[in-house]
Amino acid sequence: MSNQPRIIVIGAGIIGASIAYNLSRRTPNVTILDAAKPGMAASRASYAWMNARPKPPREYHALSRMGLDAWSRLERKLGGEIGITWGGEMRWTTTDEGAAELRDEVALMQSWSYPIRMLPADELRTMEPGLNADPVTAAAYGDAEGHVDNAIAIPGLLGAAIQNGATLKVDTPVDEFIREGNQITGVCTPSEAIEADYVVLAAGYSTKDLAATVGLDYPQIESPGATVVTEPIDPIFQTVACVHTPRDLPEPQMNFRQFPDGRVQVHGGTHFGSIGDDSVEDAEWMLSELEKFLPAIKGVAIDEWRRAMRPMPADGFPIIGFPLATPNLYVATMHSGVTLAAITGELAAMEIIVGARSDVLDPFRYERFSAD
Ligand SMILES: Cc1cc2nc3c(=O)[nH]c(=O)nc-3n(C[C@H](O)[C@H](O)[C@H](O)COP(=O)(O)OP(=O)(O)OC[C@H]3O[C@@H](n4cnc5c(N)ncnc54)[C@H](O)[C@@H]3O)c2cc1C
Repeated sequence: MSNQPRIIVIGAGIIGASIAYNLSRRTPNVTILDAAKPGMAASRASYAWMNARPKPPREYHALSRMGLDAWSRLERKLGGEIGITWGGEMRWTTTDEGAAELRDEVALMQSWSYPIRMLPADELRTMEPGLNADPVTAAAYGDAEGHVDNAIAIPGLLGAAIQNGATLKVDTPVDEFIREGNQITGVCTPSEAIEADYVVLAAGYSTKDLAATVGLDYPQIESPGATVVTEPIDPIFQTVACVHTPRDLPEPQMNFRQFPDGRVQVHGGTHFGSIGDDSVEDAEWMLSELEKFLPAIKGVAIDEWRRAMRPMPADGFPIIGFPLATPNLYVATMHSGVTLAAITGELAAMEIIVGARSDVLDPFRYERFSAD
């Protein structure tokens, strides 16, 4: 193997793009292959909220927290043009039970040294006069959080990788791996075979199927996700970047954010499935529900309805690293992949190029799913 290894990255979503960018800073021999166009799968549908709240156990919270810091570094490295909106997240409750749960959650995060605090109702209303938050039994604000526009971040990362010498091939699905024993020596696409010293498998939801072809088997939750994006409107927030509607009210539970160009993105549902189908009626229903909390959304036209399968290993945690059975195939698949993209890129590049093993990734190795 030469000093500058040849590396193939399968998948140009936010995870593959971040890993490819970080690899390209150390070797020019990076080839990124995407079955379609970059960033059009889960990363496009994503609500893309960067957060570490609370994400137990502590190890997962800590990795997510490192994820926020890594996004700040990435923003600096790429000169700020990476599509991030910082400003924190706000939520409130409407019942005494909900308030008690929120206080407990905030206390837990404070004990983990996370910058979050309870917010008096008056302060909430002063901070965000555009919200209809009534009644309020408790409120919280975590100011470390923000969101990313993957439509800016992914091209930004890939563009920087290409400037560093990487090659991007779109509409190029990887059909199979070329193997010699337990080594992956390349991949086959419909038009060619490409040799590599290392292969990074970051194909989102499809990672599971490709991994299975080399004997890696892990359970994945079937979790369809959907978000609605509106036409641009005037700024809806004065301080915060994202808001969660009260979790102690009946569904739909919604999260909403605003892109710098004024479009509002709404996500309704849980990790185990978003509310909604592909219909305009459904998207309109979600916006009419949001109107109760955000009066400014009334009558706003829907721009698009985004839908994708979440890459969600069955226990909800990432799989990152070289499985023992495939020592030169680096697997990186996860939900909360936007929160974790920047740190995953940094650590994956270090593990691949330097051969280091990052201890914060130890709880998230493939082996937790293997029989022995
Ligand atoms: C509705 C929704 C809301 C979400 N909200 C959040 C949130 O608030 N915060 C957060 O952190 N995360 C959130 N997530 C999760 C996050 O978006 C994902 O974890 C992340 O986008 C995964 O990125 P990825 O690059 O792994 O996968 P993807 O973005 O799915 O990209 C995978 C890429 O691999 C390519 N590919 C697939 N098969 C092949 C093949 N055989 N050969 C070549 N290329 C292939 C695809 O074309 C695609 O471009 C949300 C997800 C959804 C769907």
